[in-house]
Amino acid sequence: MRIVLIGPQGSGKGTQANLLSAKLKIPHIDAGQLLREEVAKGTVIGEKISIKMGRGELIDPSIAPIIIGKRLAKSDCGNGFILDGFPRDVKQAKMLEKTTVIDAVIELEVTDSLAVKRLTNRWQCLTCDTIYGITMQPKKKGLCDKCGSKLVKRKDDTPALIKKRLKLYHEVTEPLVRYYKMKTKVITIDASKPVGAAFKEILSQLLK
Ligand code: AMP
Repeated sequence: MRIVLIGPQGSGKGTQANLLSAKLKIPHIDAGQLLREEVAKGTVIGEKISIKMGRGELIDPSIAPIIIGKRLAKSDCGNGFILDGFPRDVKQAKMLEKTTVIDAVIELEVTDSLAVKRLTNRWQCLTCDTIYGITMQPKKKGLCDKCGSKLVKRKDDTPALIKKRLKLYHEVTEPLVRYYKMKTKVITIDASKPVGAAFKEILSQLLK
């Protein structure tokens, strides 16, 4: 199953994508994470990405489709995937359509105030990808329960950049949901619910 996950920052896309990935045995492809890996490599493209990310802006439109395209061509995507953070706008969706048919879109809805609360309390494990926050706190402060690695805060999870990224989501990505509603199955989930309840609802609607 080829799934696109859409929702504002703080709606729990990463967490739900990880759960879905384990359940459906298809990879979770996190556009933001792939771009951060490019930054970490220190390439010329990585430097360009880093500047835009640091400002809470979308990166150059020609870069993300190439990085995602390369990732989707890998053999583990043969049975499907969960795309998180790509496409981000209608233009990217149209590019994706040239090579890939999307079976379902999951839209996670959350208010801006809850998104801000979640993001300002978000900690992440870069080793195993586990995300911690207000409802799931690590047993030992600052350390991942699963693998013991040090938890980090994302550089763009500052109040000013969170506000800017949410504004961009409403302006650029929300129209994408309307676009997908004309083309494919779109499941809309109230993502203010606890993680388990939201996941249960996603599964029941997806596998209906
Ligand atoms: P995220 O991890 O989804 O919050 O993305 C972090 C940052 O990566 C965003 O603020 C953008 O700068 C960049 N980014 C992620 N996905 C895309 C995309 N599909 N198109 C353009 N920029 C992106």
